[in-house]
Amino acid sequence: MHDIVIRSGAVVDGTGNARRTADVAIADGRIAAVGADVGPGRRTLDADGLLVMPGWVDIHSHYDGQALWDPVLETSAGHGVTTVVMGNCGVGFAPVRPEHRPWTIALMEGVEDIPAAVLEEGLNWRWQTFPEYLDALAAAPHAIDVAAQVPHAALRVFAMGERGIDHAEVPTDDEVATMGRLAAEAVEAGAVGFTSSRSRNHVASDGRITPSFSAGDAELLGIAEALGRTGKGVVEINVDTRDLEGDLALLRRLCEASRRPVSMGLLQRPGQGQTYRQVLRAFEEAAAAGHTLLGQAAARPTGLLQSLGGRVNPLAPSATYREVSEHDPGALHTPDVKARILDELSGAADTSARFPLAYELGDPPRYDRWQSESLAARAAAAGIPLKELVYDIVVGGGFVYVPVSNYVDGDLCAVHEMLVHPLTVPGLSDGGAHCTMIADFDYPTFLLAYWGRDAPEGLRLSVEWVAQQQCSATASLVGLHDRGRLEPGKRADVNLVDLAAVGSTVPALVHDLPAGGGRLVSRGNGYVATIVAGEVTFEHGSHTGALAGSLARI
Ligand SMILES: [Zn+2]
Repeated sequence: MHDIVIRSGAVVDGTGNARRTADVAIADGRIAAVGADVGPGRRTLDADGLLVMPGWVDIHSHYDGQALWDPVLETSAGHGVTTVVMGNCGVGFAPVRPEHRPWTIALMEGVEDIPAAVLEEGLNWRWQTFPEYLDALAAAPHAIDVAAQVPHAALRVFAMGERGIDHAEVPTDDEVATMGRLAAEAVEAGAVGFTSSRSRNHVASDGRITPSFSAGDAELLGIAEALGRTGKGVVEINVDTRDLEGDLALLRRLCEASRRPVSMGLLQRPGQGQTYRQVLRAFEEAAAAGHTLLGQAAARPTGLLQSLGGRVNPLAPSATYREVSEHDPGALHTPDVKARILDELSGAADTSARFPLAYELGDPPRYDRWQSESLAARAAAAGIPLKELVYDIVVGGGFVYVPVSNYVDGDLCAVHEMLVHPLTVPGLSDGGAHCTMIADFDYPTFLLAYWGRDAPEGLRLSVEWVAQQQCSATASLVGLHDRGRLEPGKRADVNLVDLAAVGSTVPALVHDLPAGGGRLVSRGNGYVATIVAGEVTFEHGSHTGALAGSLARI
């Protein structure tokens, strides 16, 4: 007798093979059988008319703190994600000595927009070393699996002390050896990799650039070599390709030194419209030389969500707005207050002028926009100033979506090109980060809803491709070979999906983080049931209370 039998679904197994009608049997948290006659189960789920797919594996999140106080991680778990990998971009909370805890918080606040007050209240600091941090994660309850990576910034400060915070400081040979030893120790304890950042945008809230920013070869390659000697783990690095040749050469040396898979966030950045293609060529050259160098590709243009409650509020420069919103927000709807605020939003205070291609997110939210739908085009057609249209949207409770990266050409063709390249996997959802101005945690839902269903003919991708990429390719990149496919013996992480209904609700700002911190939350529609390690964890977007997740160690 199986624990669960999923009957008569269209099984999309994550291998890339075409869907087939079959039953899926689950026993002891694993897939027991997939086929026509799998026998009875204690519980039967009718999947007639539904897709049966592996749970999503999201390899780019920042739940490093939240995973310790929030068992559900709804922003990912409510979108069919069954495994999240944290610790990306070189930032995190271990290893850390007590005196540097506030600094790790300032770095996370600055780089990933997670408010310091939230982290100060939420973190209990029952660890110093990375293995101790893993034990703290393992001891916490989880609805889905979490996996951790050891971040360069924390390693550096643990090994170098205060000096390590300054990116220009060069570690001694001994300090490099210590960082390498600690990275290897983390991976031996179950971390899935080591991460770093060379992004100029990664600045702590105290104004100091991220410590790994200018790390030299001796340091980076020393850590990579030590990691490589374990024969386990991956390297993730955030490079902004401002020094394209230098960055690509460094990635190659990281591959050679570690002999482990290396990945980087791949974006089409403003002002660098074609650079992503050179990066893809570099991936191909690395592959030809026997290395695994992959890009993490975003499911859509990445950008900001502007709103009244969020961190980016287009009305904030107006003194009248600040006064009225605090004491009499209802007055924002009156014509004279509106006129005063719009008057004050002139010149440099008129941020709408800075974003010529901005859109109303709408409800249901739409991220696939053509330039003819831009707010500028709509304002011109309506004969009103752009800032007035922005005012009406945000005062009405809506979001203004400003695509920044992956939108240089004003369409989603570059996104498509990056996604379908054989040397990329879906990534960059940044779940848990950028709490009130980005809601990209729903990338897996968008991948399925848009690319697997709604995209125009010629750009549309198969559901089978989506499952292979967002379940199997992501899992195998980070060494979690026990999941991502519906095959006997694999973990029973499964989504029952009503494809016609798949989509995201419009994000809502809720203040449920520690210290009353806000975050944008949206719900995934179309996920009839999500199963984690053999237990039904979400049904129709609501948590069942099951906490079958755990720390995934490699
Ligand atoms: Zn990141």
